[in-house]
Amino acid sequence: MQLPPDFAQHSPEITLPPGHDRVAVHCCCAPCAGAVLETMKQQGIDAVVYFFNPNIHPETEYVRRRDELIEFCTLIGLPYAVGDYNVRDWFAAVKGHEDEPERSARCQLCFNLRLLGTALFAKEQGITLFTSTLATSRWKSRAQVDAAGQAAMAATGVTYWAQDWRKQGLADRRNQLVKELKFYNQTYCGCVYGRLNERKTKELHQRRPRPQVSAAKQGES
Ligand code: SF4
Repeated sequence: MQLPPDFAQHSPEITLPPGHDRVAVHCCCAPCAGAVLETMKQQGIDAVVYFFNPNIHPETEYVRRRDELIEFCTLIGLPYAVGDYNVRDWFAAVKGHEDEPERSARCQLCFNLRLLGTALFAKEQGITLFTSTLATSRWKSRAQVDAAGQAAMAATGVTYWAQDWRKQGLADRRNQLVKELKFYNQTYCGCVYGRLNERKTKELHQRRPRPQVSAAKQGES
């Protein structure tokens, strides 16, 4: 992994909310974290990255995403910590919602668990603020991520920083860094149910009969 020459050269001016001097940043993977951590680095924000994602299945996928994030943090010089891979707790939290699609109640419960874990980590470290890179993906519901952040704040007293990490050019920069740093291209959100849905969708496309092309249409340019 090699940083592009313009890394941390033109990040948006984003500062910590007043009254806080450090932030715990929940990160699900390097692609979602890239532009956010670049901004924090350039703006001199004192950040600690927290990888806490027991939703990711199978374990080989978990290790791949975790290790890529660790490599990126090491390269840019940001401290990080890794939470427990407590798969049992995650399955218990989403029980009864296995067949639901993405952006459903299952995803809300999944975010709740991960952001509560992050707020507890922050509290343990004496950090008064936390945020998450989860909503940098356009597939995720920012409202659900923020609701999880607010719930974790109410439960722990640690402030949730509800910054929109897609604004101020960060969505484009995210995609640019994914390409330039050649981050691993994930094909599903993370959990086994999301993976099964992705397979089902693919199979459906493969089974669908090819449309008949008429002779007239074949000649169209
Ligand atoms: S689809 Fe993604 S957000 Fe939803 S439950 Fe699975 S891992 Fe969590």
